[in-house]
Amino acid sequence: MLIQRKQRVIDTHGMLLAVNKIFKIYKENDIETVALQGAEFSVAPGEFVAIQGRSGAGKSTLLNLIGGLDTPSAGQIIVAGRDVAHMNETERAAYRREHIGIVFQTGNLIPFLSALENVILPLTWDGIPVPEAEKKATQLLKDLGLEDRIHHKVSQLSGGEAQRVGIAIALSNDPELLLADELTGELDTEITNQVMDMLKKLHEERQMSLLVVTHNRRVAARAQRILHIADGLIIEEEQDE
Ligand code: ADP
Ligand code: MG
Repeated sequence: MLIQRKQRVIDTHGMLLAVNKIFKIYKENDIETVALQGAEFSVAPGEFVAIQGRSGAGKSTLLNLIGGLDTPSAGQIIVAGRDVAHMNETERAAYRREHIGIVFQTGNLIPFLSALENVILPLTWDGIPVPEAEKKATQLLKDLGLEDRIHHKVSQLSGGEAQRVGIAIALSNDPELLLADELTGELDTEITNQVMDMLKKLHEERQMSLLVVTHNRRVAARAQRILHIADGLIIEEEQDE
């Protein structure tokens, strides 16, 4: 049985995600790095938002906090009415399972397993029986255009194909909010366009919210709204069209 601390449900005025004056200070050997200093923004249900900024601006830090992988030094991160910043470890794990999909900057795939096995694995960790997990994983890989790569080892896939396996994993729990960190960081222009086209299509079909952080202007331009981050602060906002 999962024992959960009761949390007050917070009104985010119709927003799926509301980041409220978030701070993150890393401390290592007496050296403090202020990665985020009061960043604020929100994302509506079904909205596609990009956060663009230079290396070191705080993008990955922000995404990790929203994904419940780390805790902020101060501030609130409200997702679906609950404050992720004040959840304990168990609550954060449940939060990730129920609401969030994350596509990591550096692939978190197991190279010696097949594409299919890589997608099945986390589903079975979530307690889904293998036959059901296999069916779901197969469908996701097909949806991502990897029909004839299902049984290839990840080490045998191209960068763009491996990236799509990562997206399949992130989608496997049907998240309300998909987070992507430098999704197309090391891919060439054509593959970047393909991956972004696919993500945009999935976003429209599934009506999930999508938050992409990137240093790449062209990637950011695919979003409905672009936020700019510098020195751990959201500094300006551009609307689509
Ligand atoms: P971005 O993803 O925009 O390149 P990051 O969020 O990775 O930026 O980093 C923001 C700042 O925080 C940088 O100055 C970086 O060096 C620092 N930083 C990131 N992670 C850590 C960490 N685990 N420990 C100490 N400093 C960190
Ligand atoms: Mg980063």
